[in-house]
Amino acid sequence: MKLNNLNDLLIHELKDIYNAEQQITKALPKMMKATSSNQLKKAFEDHLKVTEQQIERLEKVFELMGEKAKGEKCKAMEGIIREAESMMEEKADASVMDAALIASAQRVEHYEIAAYGTVCTYAKQLGMNDVLKLLLRTLDEEKKTDELLTTIAESSVNIKAER
Ligand code: FE
Ligand code: FE
Ligand code: FE
Repeated sequence: MKLNNLNDLLIHELKDIYNAEQQITKALPKMMKATSSNQLKKAFEDHLKVTEQQIERLEKVFELMGEKAKGEKCKAMEGIIREAESMMEEKADASVMDAALIASAQRVEHYEIAAYGTVCTYAKQLGMNDVLKLLLRTLDEEKKTDELLTTIAESSVNIKAER
């Protein structure tokens, strides 16, 4: 499909994120199993629920744009998740593994922050206020999750991993 304008590019980007979010829903349960920190496990569990809502929100966005909700393989997310999976196969002390899980999870969140930041900018440019509102909510959730992961790392996991 030829991309003729910013609207086409927005749809293209949304399909990428839609697929990325679906990949994340499959990765988070594995990360929940790999952690031995209850705090981190809860953070992953909560973010899984949030991610499911984000997928529904994207479906609403597609509907508002008169497009059918369809993903397109996000190869970047596939790569980030593959790295996380190979890290989970390493032998590591429990708290070191937790630190590594946070590192992987933050790569996921940073990709999402970049992606949602871009689609928010496009939606704003295109005057799509309802779409923008939905995407801003998700962007905010991704940022909050990233901040929470930093807090867990700095206040507990990294300290335990240091020993
Ligand atoms: Fe997400
Ligand atoms: Fe992508
Ligand atoms: Fe996320």
